[in-house]
Amino acid sequence: MRVKSSERGRDALAGLHVVVNAGPTYEDIDPVRFLGNRSSGKMGFAIAEAASLAGAAVTLVAGPVALATPAKVALRVDVRSARQMRDAVLEAVRGADVFIATAAVADWRVATYSSRKLKKGARGAPVLELVENPDILAEVAALDRRPFVVGFAAETERLAERAREKLVHKKLDMLVANLVDEHVGIGADDNAVELFWPGGSEALPRASKLEIATALVARIAQRFRDRSRA
Ligand code: C5P
Repeated sequence: MRVKSSERGRDALAGLHVVVNAGPTYEDIDPVRFLGNRSSGKMGFAIAEAASLAGAAVTLVAGPVALATPAKVALRVDVRSARQMRDAVLEAVRGADVFIATAAVADWRVATYSSRKLKKGARGAPVLELVENPDILAEVAALDRRPFVVGFAAETERLAERAREKLVHKKLDMLVANLVDEHVGIGADDNAVELFWPGGSEALPRASKLEIATALVARIAQRFRDRSRA
């Protein structure tokens, strides 16, 4: 996808504070094992880069990823678990204008962390009890003085229907949905997404994550301004 020069919008987010979370979270089981997922953080880092190039002061809350901080990002906070990410995000969004939740937050963590390495033994494989992690996006959307909230959703089927449900259920201003397969989406270099907001939607065809990020940031800036004017 070609990004029109008008979409690069050098100052589309000038003067705004944007918080982006990115990457996976790791939920430790014992000192050597964890539950994780395939998120690379590339989409979130590309969005942080595009937002800072559009003039925003960006705070990037990153899970465990192997990525360098984009040059113009004002602040990066590294975290590991969903609970650490929640604390860092809630701190960062105080007074922020926009929150973009790209992180693949682990839905579950183990109920009891073992400070000793779990051993193989006569009793066979351990049974791990899982408990639900906090939903960071829903918590931010429920704040009294909330920023403009953008969620992401990776789906393997019934994309539009699930996206619309999530937009309403989590009270989002915008939702970016992508159908995941082995070529696009999680962990890949390219992405193809569909944007949903109350009253509209737009498909952004397959392109590099930075091109998608640039186009997304332009749409977010537009809708943020429209809402502020309303
Ligand atoms: O419901 P689902 O996990 O598909 O929603 C994905 C969106 O919710 C993403 O924006 C993700 O960052 C956010 N999320 C979250 N906390 C969780 C799970 C998902 O913020 N525990």
